[in-house]
Formats: sequence, C-alpha cells, structure tokens
Amino acid sequence: MRWSFKIARIAGIDVRIHATFFLLLGFVAYFAGHRAGASWGLNAVLIWLLVFLCVLLHELGHALAAKAYGIPTVDITLYPIGGVARMERMPEKPVQELVVAIAGPLVNVVIIIVLGAVLFATGGLDLNAIVTDPNLLQILFWTNIVMVVFNLIPAFPLDGGRVLRALLATRMEYAQATRVAAGIGQGLALALGIFAAFTGQILLILIAIFIYMAAESEAAVVQMRSVTAGLPVSSAMVTRFDTLDHRSTLNQAIDVLLGTSQHEFPVLDDNGGFAGLLTKHDLLVALRNNGADTPVTDVMVKGLPTVLPQTSLDRALDFVRQAGVAALPVLDNTGRLVGLFTPENVTELLMVRTALGKKKRGVA
Ligand SMILES: [Zn+2]
Repeated sequence: MRWSFKIARIAGIDVRIHATFFLLLGFVAYFAGHRAGASWGLNAVLIWLLVFLCVLLHELGHALAAKAYGIPTVDITLYPIGGVARMERMPEKPVQELVVAIAGPLVNVVIIIVLGAVLFATGGLDLNAIVTDPNLLQILFWTNIVMVVFNLIPAFPLDGGRVLRALLATRMEYAQATRVAAGIGQGLALALGIFAAFTGQILLILIAIFIYMAAESEAAVVQMRSVTAGLPVSSAMVTRFDTLDHRSTLNQAIDVLLGTSQHEFPVLDDNGGFAGLLTKHDLLVALRNNGADTPVTDVMVKGLPTVLPQTSLDRALDFVRQAGVAALPVLDNTGRLVGLFTPENVTELLMVRTALGKKKRGVA
C-alpha cells in the first residue's frame, strides 16, 4: 500500500490512487498531445479522469452493497487497469455475494441509462456521429458498456466470476462452487490467452495470465477456509518460539536469528508484555543501513493487531492479510504473549487435516 495516496474519504471509505496511475495519465497526455496537439492531450486526460470516476462509482457500488450487509470496506484503490474495493471479509451467503458482485456493474448500467437518455434527447445516439467524431458523452457511454460486458465475464477476479460462484453456491457447497467457478474462469483465460497469442495482442495475454492466476489463488483461499472454518487460532499457533528483550540490539537479534528457523521475533517489554515484532527482513535491512548497535525497538513493527487464542482462524487470517505482515502475536485475556499466528502454520494444519481425512476414508 506504500505506493498509493489517499485522495478522498467517501461514506467512511478511504479512496486511494496508486502511483502508477499518474504514470499512465502522463503517457495518455503525452501521446495524445504529441499526435494531435496540446488540446487533444488535455482532452484525453479529461476523458481518462471521467472514465476513472465511473470506475470509482462502480467500486462504491460494491462497497455500499457490502455495507448494507454489515461488511465494512477498508479502502478503494484505483490502479491503471481498474479499481479494487478491499472489504474486511467476503460475504458468505450466496445471495449476499451475488448482490455485492452485481452492485458494481449495476452502477455502470445506471450511468449508461442516464447518458443514453441525454444522447437520445440530443440526437447523439446517431451511429454515424459516434463513429466519425465522437464527443465526450458518447465515449463515456461506450466505455461504460464495455465495462459492464468485461466485468460480467464469468472469471475471477471479475464480478462475473463472483456472480457465477454465488449462483453455483446455491446448489452446492461453497468450496466446491469456488472450484467449479475457478475452473471455468481458467478455461476462459486459457482460451483468451490462445486467441491473444494468435492475434498478437500483448495486453490481452497479460490479462489472461492475470485472470488465470487470480482464479488459482481464489480457489486456494477458499479451500483453506473450508478446512479452517470454526477452528480457533490456538489450533494452529506456534507456541515454541524465541523472543527478544526490548533492550536488545540488532547484533543480539542476529545471534537469536542464526539459532532458529523462525522469521518473526516478538519483542517483549520489562513486564513481559508484547511491544512489537521484528521481522527477519527488517532486521537484515536495518543491519546493513543502520549498523549492528541499533536497538531492536527502532526497527520492530509497532501497533500490530493482536488476536486471542479463541479468535477464529478465518478472522485471524483476515487480520494478517490487512496488517501485511507474516505473523501476529496471540495474547491471552491477561495480555500475556502465548503464541505466534502465521498463515504458514495454517497451511501446515491444512496438510495435516487433509492427510488425516484421506487416511480416515482409506480405513473406512
Ligand atoms: Zn466490480
């Protein structure tokens, strides 16, 4: 998230713009300006900004629908290829997922109807005018139509993929519905990739690869959730780990690091309370830049969310993802550090349970 800037706050949701977005805007201005003069460069930038206003409204559609089901949206980020609304969790009921997924394209449909009405009233829907010399409204009208059609392709992470999963989930288990939807998405991505390769469209090849990988990771996340459902953090947390004293230096931390395969080290204060987390990566970077005598408290990550042993694995996985670290401290009711929660251990738990499940079936 370091490469994005907050530009607004709408309905309690931070709206952010990714730095690469400006890069693209610069390219658009440069090429349009270079080819057709400065006023065209300005026009192109204006069109691009209005298109992204539509993308933002689309994402707000998702976010507000989710809010109606009590699911907060962390933020909306605009990337050069589109927007992403990061929700705190995914709606679990198929009907809710369907409504949240469809709410985005529905916003575009409303825009299409409004623009279409204006164009119709002014005679702007005339096809000749659109092809020979399109004006701003006509360009926006068609862009929104393309957005709806593209988003409804039934492949993750596009909205159509979620609609398909939600529809399948009304007839089968959620994890299975995801596998089927992901399989269909990957099949479509493969077909798109082959078509793009034959017609030499690089951008389309990249989109196909992106869709293929997104389907893979969506299926993996849901597979993980189907096994972890209802389990507490205590069933997967690490209970044997090394800690660092808050007076330690990086030099002392290195000694501990070399004696273990652990990658994250909780730093404890004088009362044995959790003060922060020192990661192997931060430790090595700081060692190079700041030297071995730097106190670990200067380098550790502070203000991390903490979880209780009885917190559900699903929620803890959400926290870890939002915090953007590889481990979270597990504190008991008295605030004592009793474990480290890492997604890696959830994966191990998953493998153990899968192995046990197979054995059980084999015996029976
Ligand atoms: Zn969408």
